[in-house]
Amino acid sequence: MRELTFVRRGRLEWRDRPDPVLQLPTDALVRPFVAARCDGDALPLHRPVSRAMQVGLKTGLIDPVVGSIVGEVPFRGPFGIGHECVAQVTAVGPEVTGVAVGDVVVVPWALSCGTCAQCRAGLTAKCATTAAESPGGTLAAFGFGPTSGPWGGMVVDSLRVPFADHMLVRLPEGVDPLRVAAAGDNLTDAWRAVYPPLHDRPGGSVLVMGGGAQSIGLYAAGLAVALGAGVVDYVDDGEARLEVAQALGARVHRLGGRRKRSAFPVTPGRYDVAVEASSSGRGLRQALRALRPGGVCTATGYYLAPGTKVPVMDMYATSATLRVGVSSVRPVLPHLLDFVATSGFAAERVTSLVADWDDAPEVYGARTIKLVLHRPPLDLAATASPS
Ligand SMILES: [Zn+2]
Ligand SMILES: [Zn+2]
Repeated sequence: MRELTFVRRGRLEWRDRPDPVLQLPTDALVRPFVAARCDGDALPLHRPVSRAMQVGLKTGLIDPVVGSIVGEVPFRGPFGIGHECVAQVTAVGPEVTGVAVGDVVVVPWALSCGTCAQCRAGLTAKCATTAAESPGGTLAAFGFGPTSGPWGGMVVDSLRVPFADHMLVRLPEGVDPLRVAAAGDNLTDAWRAVYPPLHDRPGGSVLVMGGGAQSIGLYAAGLAVALGAGVVDYVDDGEARLEVAQALGARVHRLGGRRKRSAFPVTPGRYDVAVEASSSGRGLRQALRALRPGGVCTATGYYLAPGTKVPVMDMYATSATLRVGVSSVRPVLPHLLDFVATSGFAAERVTSLVADWDDAPEVYGARTIKLVLHRPPLDLAATASPS
């Protein structure tokens, strides 16, 4: 079968990979038919990041912790890329009871067992079971290369999913797979940044610093509006993203001119919730200083420089909370999908390019906000086992 393979910056191609098989009775095989590009994939696609990160790690320009997360040679091709998909179940092991052949499911980007202490604490992206089995020892995931395990990327014809009853979440009736193309990562990342703090502060005001994690910032702005936030202010310097944020119901604030991000006049004490998606230390500090007493800021970007400054005294003054860390998608995925099903939240408005699956090598590196690939699902009714 073919797998979309990242070779090096500017070069993606289909490469052959053996079809996966069911290895354990709790495995499933799925066929992705909608795949979205995670914001983080822009890093190896658009910057000479492998070489630059190696040099940065050696010279101290990049925080050494980054090396412990992604390895000393990050993003070196070739590896199967892509870790957001909606798929059809094509085969299940004898102990799988929660999903059946033909079911349409969302596959979380990180592999997790569902039963270890980390998983039970809701930290499925930190699953101890799957991380221990991955060569890097810290992360088991689709689409991040061999240090994160043998799982491969999601732009592929067949994917082996272990712990299938735990991992796979069925799409609710009536939800368009294209709408929730990013539910396996970025859309749920945005959800965890706005739903819990807004649930505790109904009608609260929300600030989104956008532009770095492009789709996450926009999903967060749209979800905040849909969740009934009193005010949603979206700050960015990208015209196309500002238009999307406005269409999603946010008030937009254009950063412009040479001063760029420093130009946004953040008034301290205005926001209950902040989402930092600019991936800049400055954005992080502005977001934290903008919080009202008791406010919560979730940082969803990457902060690669060593010693990113955090205004702790400002946070002390406002009893602010800063939440960081990779997104543990699986525990919150059912709630997000139910919300999309009942509210009709139009997440697809963030999608800036829908392309044919076959064109993946040509389009996956496109400089666009959010790319979604699709192909027709299979007609599996004939092969589904009666139950
Ligand atoms: Zn991702
Ligand atoms: Zn686990």
